[in-house]
Amino acid sequence: MHRRSPSEIDGIRAACAVVHQVQSAVEAAASPGVSTLSLDELAEATIRDRGGEPAFKGYHGFPASICASVNDEAVHGLPRTEPLEEGDLLCVDVGVQLDGWFGDGAFTIVLGHVDRRVRGLVDTTRAALESGVAAARPGNRLSDISHAIESAAAAGGVSVIREFGGHGIGRHLHEDPHLPNHGPPGRGPHLRAGHVLAIEPIFSLGQPGIVVDEDGWTARTRDGSLAAHFEHTVAVTEDGPSLLTLSPGIADTADSRPVCNQPPERAEAPPEKAEDRG
Ligand code: MG
Repeated sequence: MHRRSPSEIDGIRAACAVVHQVQSAVEAAASPGVSTLSLDELAEATIRDRGGEPAFKGYHGFPASICASVNDEAVHGLPRTEPLEEGDLLCVDVGVQLDGWFGDGAFTIVLGHVDRRVRGLVDTTRAALESGVAAARPGNRLSDISHAIESAAAAGGVSVIREFGGHGIGRHLHEDPHLPNHGPPGRGPHLRAGHVLAIEPIFSLGQPGIVVDEDGWTARTRDGSLAAHFEHTVAVTEDGPSLLTLSPGIADTADSRPVCNQPPERAEAPPEKAEDRG
């Protein structure tokens, strides 16, 4: 588990700033009638305009710059030409490489009116991310983050999709350690200033379990229930967690925008097959 210097963390923060800019652009553009393929094109253009590279594109053969997972698609959804529809639940995950550093983030939004249960899923997943982030502080151990996330799922009455999780990040999109979204507290490495993690709860309204489409990527819930996903890249500092994908001066606050991001890893990268991941 790498410990990054403050200047190295600034490098990751710069990549994460582009992640955030892409999220803002995609969120603003996402609406019924728009295709996720067009959102992918917008994301790639935004990344390249800022001198970055789409970290997902080509990663283990993933063909796009974003994962766009709709409704029962939990993660790694392939962008496609079909337009989004009123009532869709859309999760967008994006990774950026900038000057040799990586940033990773995901958010989930609802398009138009959805019922209270669906809104609760989104709110619970976002709250779980916040709980996980809050546990990313010196003195804690890695699985304290996992336990905080799982506890938030239990409190919200939703299921953890266990096939995917968070990960270290920095010089590579996915670095050690894998960060499960479930498990008992007090296990794993001690967290120290300089550790950088992508924390990303992925929850569903139904039973645990996913299946991967024939495209080799799109991972959807086995029972067809809706899924949500949020992700931040976070640095552990002596003062507590620092949200690199939501840096001051770049945009809004965590409360004002849907944040759901997360991509790959050995765990949830857009890339590998689910069976290979944790
Ligand atoms: Mg990730």
